[in-house]
Amino acid sequence: MEKQIGELYEQLGELKGKLSDLLEENHRLSMENHHLRNRLELEEAAQDKVGEEMESLKVPSEGYDNLARLYEEGFHICNLEFGSPRRNEDCMFCLDFLSKTK
Ligand SMILES: [Zn+2]
Repeated sequence: MEKQIGELYEQLGELKGKLSDLLEENHRLSMENHHLRNRLELEEAAQDKVGEEMESLKVPSEGYDNLARLYEEGFHICNLEFGSPRRNEDCMFCLDFLSKTK
């Protein structure tokens, strides 16, 4: 009987040790989880920001059509000579601008 109690006591000691290991592990994992979650949120916020900026940079297709028509009608749409007559010459800058905007 006394021997059994001694063994039980020993086992209890081992269990206590394992339990504190588990608690430590659990703590470590939850810290790591916390860090990862923060980082994920930061990255998501950054991506939203980039998305908004792309959106504001994008020329609406209607605006592109208007510019293309203006060019067809013989005017510069490049930022060098915007609105001035082309005199029936193709302008590299206008064409470049159109191809980038498309
Ligand atoms: Zn031009």
